Amino acid sequence: MNAELPPGLYIVATPIGNLGDLSPRAAQVLANADVIAVEDSRVTAKLLQHIGAKRTMTPYHDHNAEAVRPGLVARMGGEVVALVSDAGTPLISDPGYKLVRDARAAGHNVVTVPGPCAAVAALTLAGLPTDRFLFLGFLPPKAGARATAIAEVASVRATLILYESGPRLAVTLAALAEGLGDREAGVAREITKRFEECVTGTLSDLAARYADAPPRGEIVVIVAPPGEPEPASEEDADTALREALTRLPVSKAAGEVAKKLGLDRRELYARAMELKG
Ligand code: SAM
Repeated sequence: MNAELPPGLYIVATPIGNLGDLSPRAAQVLANADVIAVEDSRVTAKLLQHIGAKRTMTPYHDHNAEAVRPGLVARMGGEVVALVSDAGTPLISDPGYKLVRDARAAGHNVVTVPGPCAAVAALTLAGLPTDRFLFLGFLPPKAGARATAIAEVASVRATLILYESGPRLAVTLAALAEGLGDREAGVAREITKRFEECVTGTLSDLAARYADAPPRGEIVVIVAPPGEPEPASEEDADTALREALTRLPVSKAAGEVAKKLGLDRRELYARAMELKG
């Protein structure tokens, strides 16, 4: 039995660039873990060195997860198993959700040690609405699949968050402008590192900016939600009313058009009477 912590699975967020962002609690869990499931042991070894700890690490990544998961879950009954990714919050565009699922199914203690996440950090930098957001991870690299993925979210009334690489950034920004319209956006780069920046502008301006100069480093793209739809004009209302009156009595026509165009039913009723007369 671990003297410091109860047994179970500990999901530990780690810095996305600045080692000062490792929380004291994350350091305590890592320093006392019986085993740390890691993406790349060289990356986590540096973090352990930073906190002066030496712990057993075991690789846990897309290629071996199926094989090693049962053994890790079995250990959680009596040992402290920590899960980290190379940077940021495990499970967010990183392996781990099946480990959590199986740990829960086996009845083990599951604890999260929250901390840095590039998606949320970028959202705080971009100056775009934060009340509703949708995380898309990495878009598919192939043009057709990427366009389909963008079309799927075009009508979602939320700020979009995407991970992207420097070489693909301009093509992705252009595809977003094409599929979503030329919305406001931000490109957050190297967050918490020496060259951190967040460049804002329209999607097409940003696509042009990066077309000949792919940026270095790690990148998150933030895209504003769609604008409010244009309110229906009097002409729109008349057209819709005339059509509805060919099928419906005045009151039902007014009701249908009010619902469809988001206009006042009583005003539409009066206008429908005029049109009829
Ligand atoms: N789990 C991580 C998290 O919580 O952010 C994300 C892992 S995902 C495999 C790696 C991607 O996250 C990078 O390609 C980049 O898009 C984004 N990212 C990670 N660190 C970043 C940083 N310091 N600045 C900007 N983007 C970053």
